[in-house]
Amino acid sequence: METKAATPKLEEEEEEEEEEEEIEGWDAWQSDEDNSIAEFLCLFCSLRFDSTETLFNHCSSDHAFDFHGIVRDLGLKFYGSFKLINYVRSQVVKNKCWSCGLTFECSKDLQNHLHAAVSYEKGGKFLWEDDVYLKPFMADDPLLHSFAADEDDEDYNVLIDKEELMRELVSNEDFGELCNDSQEILKDSSSELNIVQNIGNKQDHAENMACHFDKMKTNGILMEENFRPFHQRRKDKQLRFSVANVTAREIKDVNENYFGAYGSFGIHREMLSDKVRMDAYRGALLKNPCLMNQATVLDVGCGTGILSLFAAQAGASRVIAVEASAKMASVATQIVKDNGLLSEGTEKGDEKQCLGKIKVVRCMVEELDQHIQVPPHSIDVLVSEWMGYCLLYESMLSSVLYARDHWLKPGGAILPDTATIFVAGFGRGGTSIPFWENVYGFNMSCVGKEVVEDASRVPIVDIVDDQDIITASAVLQSFDLATMKPDDMDFTASFELKLRSDFQGDSTASTLGIWCYGIVLWFETGFTSRFCKEMPTVLSTSPYSPGTHWSQTILTFREPIVMQSDKSIPNLAASVGTEGRPAVRIRSRISIVRSSAHRSIDISMETTGISSDGQKCSWPVQIFNL
Ligand code: SAH
Repeated sequence: METKAATPKLEEEEEEEEEEEEIEGWDAWQSDEDNSIAEFLCLFCSLRFDSTETLFNHCSSDHAFDFHGIVRDLGLKFYGSFKLINYVRSQVVKNKCWSCGLTFECSKDLQNHLHAAVSYEKGGKFLWEDDVYLKPFMADDPLLHSFAADEDDEDYNVLIDKEELMRELVSNEDFGELCNDSQEILKDSSSELNIVQNIGNKQDHAENMACHFDKMKTNGILMEENFRPFHQRRKDKQLRFSVANVTAREIKDVNENYFGAYGSFGIHREMLSDKVRMDAYRGALLKNPCLMNQATVLDVGCGTGILSLFAAQAGASRVIAVEASAKMASVATQIVKDNGLLSEGTEKGDEKQCLGKIKVVRCMVEELDQHIQVPPHSIDVLVSEWMGYCLLYESMLSSVLYARDHWLKPGGAILPDTATIFVAGFGRGGTSIPFWENVYGFNMSCVGKEVVEDASRVPIVDIVDDQDIITASAVLQSFDLATMKPDDMDFTASFELKLRSDFQGDSTASTLGIWCYGIVLWFETGFTSRFCKEMPTVLSTSPYSPGTHWSQTILTFREPIVMQSDKSIPNLAASVGTEGRPAVRIRSRISIVRSSAHRSIDISMETTGISSDGQKCSWPVQIFNL
């Protein structure tokens, strides 16, 4: 599954609402977009603009406020950008310079004064750091729910960071206060959901939250059970009450919006261009005729329909292709039809003759029963490409398990049928330190240092060169897709890492040891001989295999640990993990749990180094959110 999903604009969501019963063509969808005009009020003067682009150009040229430049330079994501806008508006209304803090008599004086930013920080924090700026300064500020969606190539970040924002809101100690502040706005609100809606970016928060609950609900899992992390983090009764009262209608709306995010062709092109991924699925489906011949197949999340097409090609008698994104369901229908495989209707004069094997159904698989009749436990083969970064990030695995439990025959095949997460230690070359050390002959290593520090809080999804793996690999966790339960997706597992026997050494390797900078994670999914008897295959995202669009996931230690394989005499005065007393083994425990934020995961990592004399040193637990 592709993980870089885009979130369509709010305006589009509203348009789509009205047309929810139909699968719309893209033309209609696009023209809706074209007609939407928003009034974006300048941050500094009373001018209004039709687009964020013209607004920000104006802010840049007339008020020396380069929003995109700041966002880019500081690496602000949705949450940071959101607060920045609210912060600037809150300062301007006081005739105060957002950057240097000088206050003026009138707005004209302020406008004459405005200058390029001198500093973005005060006391080591961004000027807009305070979570009070999560609250929209201006009611119904279209800028807040529009600016992010304009940045097409950052759509992925936008999606995640809306979730991040939701998390921030939920976990923030000041949230109760913000809720109270919002009571004014809420007076006339008919739905409790508005408590969430009116704080921060109106609908975006609610949609992410409701998506999360919808998933729980539709997976048939008790809300109370899954709600626990929220309860622990936020004891605000009002919030709990409001979320629990999200209406079915609202859930449906936000869900439609979420799956609309998968309507981007770029995402599907990237997946279809991932040769490793495609070869594995194609091989599993086409090279196991005993499995596929005359089989009834369910394709969960068909996207363009590619896996259904392979299944039909492989001899399946009937394929049900389920896709929750309205746009992609419509695209898949067209593609299946164009290839003469649609199960409904044949076109006169079509010489190919429609074989009518594939039925495309637009819905979440959890709602399949409401759309077509599929007898329980009637499916021979369930196929899905559900994997996200680090296997479980943004994963739709729970939907696949739901489908398995409802429609797969006893003993039926699930493809893939195994999934394993691997870990290994990486060296200096796996960090960005070497890059920053020599930039066209200049030393920029201060940047590398900062980047590595940041990486100890946020996982990095990137390709790790196999040369930079310094330890042997270990299995973190294995899943049997045929038998696992949804709760198994949350786990804690321990492992030990020793230096790779064939490690050639890197520039920092010395007789004193090799520096281990952190742990890299990757996964493999197996199409094993249990179901693929003729041609089992493995889809690997290992650094030792050709690259895939999943790359690897990098968890960086707060400080590197020196490792050594031989049992040279340690300096007993030195700390374990230093050059005087290198670790011969790193013992680690990693937990991966689904986060309260929809489709996100929380990772915790505990690390202990063990020296040749058996001495141990443990480092404080590190928490990452992906
Ligand atoms: N099978 C396609 C697409 C994989 S991406 C391929 O291999 O190329 C995953 C797709 O599943 C997305 O298009 C997404 O919209 C869809 N999806 C995710 N969760 C779903 C669910 N619960 N029900 C139906 N479709 C879902």
